[in-house]
Amino acid sequence: MPANQFEKWPPEYDQSYIPSPDSEYWNREIETMDPVERDKKVILPKLLGQLRWAYDNSEFYRKKWDKAKVNLRDIRSLADFEQIPFVTKDEIRQDQKEHPPFGSNLCVPRKDIARIHGTSGTTGKPTAFGIGKGDIARIAEAHARIMWSFGMRPDDSVFIGSFFSLYMGSWGALLGVERLGATAFPFGAGVPGQTDRAMEWMKEIRPTMFYGTPSYSLYLAERALARGFDPLKDFGFRVLFFSGEPGAGVPSTKKRIEDTYGGICIDSGSTAEMSPWMTDCECRFRQGMHLWQDIVYAELVDRETRKRLPYKSEGVTVYTHLERTTQPMIRFWAGDISYWVDDPCPCGRTYPRFPKGIYGRADDMFVVRGENVYPSAIENVIRGIKGFGDEFRIVITREKTMDELIVQAEYTHDVDVAQIPELKAKLEGELRNLGLRTIVEMMKSGSLERTQFKARRAIDKRDLYDEIVKKG
Ligand SMILES: [Zn+2]
Repeated sequence: MPANQFEKWPPEYDQSYIPSPDSEYWNREIETMDPVERDKKVILPKLLGQLRWAYDNSEFYRKKWDKAKVNLRDIRSLADFEQIPFVTKDEIRQDQKEHPPFGSNLCVPRKDIARIHGTSGTTGKPTAFGIGKGDIARIAEAHARIMWSFGMRPDDSVFIGSFFSLYMGSWGALLGVERLGATAFPFGAGVPGQTDRAMEWMKEIRPTMFYGTPSYSLYLAERALARGFDPLKDFGFRVLFFSGEPGAGVPSTKKRIEDTYGGICIDSGSTAEMSPWMTDCECRFRQGMHLWQDIVYAELVDRETRKRLPYKSEGVTVYTHLERTTQPMIRFWAGDISYWVDDPCPCGRTYPRFPKGIYGRADDMFVVRGENVYPSAIENVIRGIKGFGDEFRIVITREKTMDELIVQAEYTHDVDVAQIPELKAKLEGELRNLGLRTIVEMMKSGSLERTQFKARRAIDKRDLYDEIVKKG
């Protein structure tokens, strides 16, 4: 057993602890505990420690909670915890603008920051993250424990095929691999020519696991096949695990990745503000992401009433760090849409799960002619039809006052020209079954732009149209 972390906050872990390789669990006691007991014995004490820390060290939370008239002494249960107001992305951005560069929620002196990361800033000013030294050790511990659940062991070697930059996903994976005692192969991505070199290295080194984004793994496979490699035989990954995009939780994308590479495809990840804690993550049985509630406490709440929902409901994700000293997020409104259950998983862990993954990001959702449209639902249809490749785009335009939903989908090399109309009709038909009236544009293989990171597959041109109309 690792050192007992129930009492002390922030928890400290025994850095030399590694379970026996044949153990299913990193920490059997906590992972398989009766959930009601775990709430009381493990999660609540950690939560109270985290709240006290935040109130004492963060001007941001002190002001926010005082204003909301929340007194920490009144919080004695997880139900009481729902009095705490939500934190939004915009609030964090605004706070950083007023208190540059890290905002008023840093909670440690600048000299105690081990690493600085941030968001890419594609949709506004980037958010800066400072990660404290103690947090680095806890991130490593959490990753190791979670990666153990999908089968990573000290004799594995892990190809990390994602950006080593401000983006934290790759760094979190690296920390976990090192803590677990496996071999890290931090290859990176994004440099011209790197994908071609990646496949040569993979064939040579034969790493047993792959980490990256789902888009990138499919792009890499496509290029590998074009260059005469067989991803199944030449690479031989046992496990491919992903974060940064929801694709690995989309059933037909998961199947495509598993068919292409032969290994199991693991979905993980939550949102930049919570990362690199990868606490939504599938185990090796792939029944949807487990919520590792004693590391990051996840809630699913109703979009309108903002109340916590029972299991077997669909709602919005809200997360709370339980062991983060720098920039902790307390009831962070991540805004992703998911569905949660608590039925048993074959692995024996008693954590709730998102059996359908995160299938809608609030940011990604479109409303077209009054219907909610999730790009992941369209992805699932396209990737489930033989003859379509991995790339597609969703373009929404407004002709006069009517929204048009255009799906541009690439067909594969082996599709005969004569089959194209039939394939187009099949896709339109299946999308119509989802309630979506679309215009499908059949694209030649290779005509849409490829990505080595996160794909931008949905483009909303309606604002552009409105602007032109206004100017005209
Ligand atoms: Zn499981």
